[in-house]
Amino acid sequence: MTSHVDQAVAARIAAARAKREQQRQQRAELAEARTAGLAARHRTKLQRQTEDTPPTPGGTMNPASVLAANRVRTSEFNPRSYSHISSLAELHKAYLLEEFERTGDYAPGLPVASHTNTLIIRVGDEIGGFCAVDPHHFALELIYLAPPYRGRGIAAALIQQMRATCPQRMKAKLPFTPQGQALVTRTGLQPLQPAAASVQAAAAQLAEIHRVVRRDCPHKKGNPAKPCRRCWPKALRRSTEYAIRQYLAEQRDRAA
Ligand SMILES: [Zn+2]
Repeated sequence: MTSHVDQAVAARIAAARAKREQQRQQRAELAEARTAGLAARHRTKLQRQTEDTPPTPGGTMNPASVLAANRVRTSEFNPRSYSHISSLAELHKAYLLEEFERTGDYAPGLPVASHTNTLIIRVGDEIGGFCAVDPHHFALELIYLAPPYRGRGIAAALIQQMRATCPQRMKAKLPFTPQGQALVTRTGLQPLQPAAASVQAAAAQLAEIHRVVRRDCPHKKGNPAKPCRRCWPKALRRSTEYAIRQYLAEQRDRAA
């Protein structure tokens, strides 16, 4: 026969056990929900990545439909258009800055020059990039898309379209960014070593920017061997504007 005390103890033990069991159950349910949530997020991410994966040549999407799906239109750079000039300066500066962050070098390729044809790339309602082609060498000089427009196969589609109308095998001037390199491989362009003059020009540009930043930087912080991170973007911007201004002046001279 059990006493009241024994019964009370037994009841408390049973209650504690039930509570533990309930907590275990709740934990299990939570863990399951978390796993399901993770799985769902993973699925969404995977799906997004699949959608973002640019089409490979011979894939189901042809260049025209990629460009149509992204509402991509190109137009020849118009030296009289303020939006063209300011967008080109902004995009080219972004390109220089990205490459400087990546390599510490002055990235090659002019946004516009008398020996190139420059196209302004519109994506939807925005100017999203530009592309410079050297028609005398049937070579891609530079193609740049702002980050929000990447990963949709737009650059590859534009190159494929240009290739289709190019009377020779289309070439690409080296060196390129890793993404550019992948693009060149994917679209089957033939790498072309840049002219010694343009390599020298880029090196001279780099030295000049270093000199100007060292001379004008009011911050004087950090490693003196490395250019100031606050002044460098401004210097790149000036060099882009200089390149564009020079081109515009050449055009005016030619027209006069
Ligand atoms: Zn500075």
